[in-house]
Amino acid sequence: MRGYLVAGNWKMNGSIAANTTLVSGIIAGSPANESVELLVCPPFPYLAAVSCSLSDSQVRLGAQSISEHESGAFTGETAGSMLREMGCEYAIVGHSERRALMGETSEIVAAKFQAALAAGLKPILCVGETLEQRAAGQTEAVIDEQLNTVLDATGIDAFDSAVVAYEPVWAIGTGETASPEQAQDVHRHIRAVLADRNEDVAGKVRILYGGSVKGDNAAGLFSNPDIDGGLIGGASLKFEDFLAIADAAAAVQQG
Ligand code: PEP
Repeated sequence: MRGYLVAGNWKMNGSIAANTTLVSGIIAGSPANESVELLVCPPFPYLAAVSCSLSDSQVRLGAQSISEHESGAFTGETAGSMLREMGCEYAIVGHSERRALMGETSEIVAAKFQAALAAGLKPILCVGETLEQRAAGQTEAVIDEQLNTVLDATGIDAFDSAVVAYEPVWAIGTGETASPEQAQDVHRHIRAVLADRNEDVAGKVRILYGGSVKGDNAAGLFSNPDIDGGLIGGASLKFEDFLAIADAAAAVQQG
């Protein structure tokens, strides 16, 4: 059975003081239900300190990106082995901000996905369409290209330890959320694309929804059969907001 994963992507936010309040609040208020996994992804400079703060807790640590290279002359980049040393268990790859702002193509995302696996990290592969693409009826075609480029490079077995996050670009940071039906439709499609390669693996992959998830809309999204948690941006920056989403996941899990 797939447990829920509630992952916080802090993006380029935080400070030593703010992180201390955020992390201690999350640890203190985490739902007792262990089938809900909580994950925080701070900016790189804070990984070591947050890793120490999390050491006696069940809350996991992840990176917001990863270099596709192992080591060498790549100024400003961070290798998977370094992220592992910092205590990371997960790495986000293919976030729409990186695709749009840093020019990350699906091929680069596939290389990053492979680099994460090679370093022993679980990749969280983000996919999602823009508003224009949705309006043009291209949602599934966009998802297929983003997903199949990775699948072709890695094979389906690589998804055994991977997570997929469906993040419609038009819902990220906009306050506009996909309806539970819209999200479930795309999640079902993502699972079907994976199942075309291997049904068993597809049944085990957690597919998160991301895009303006809040405490008051989380349960409606998470109650759907193919939605296994959330990738949370804005609402991951205050422990009360993040915990409200974690609590919603725990409540849905308990039935
Ligand atoms: C994100 O950036 O991954 C995200 C989902 O952001 P927000 O929750 O703020 O929409």
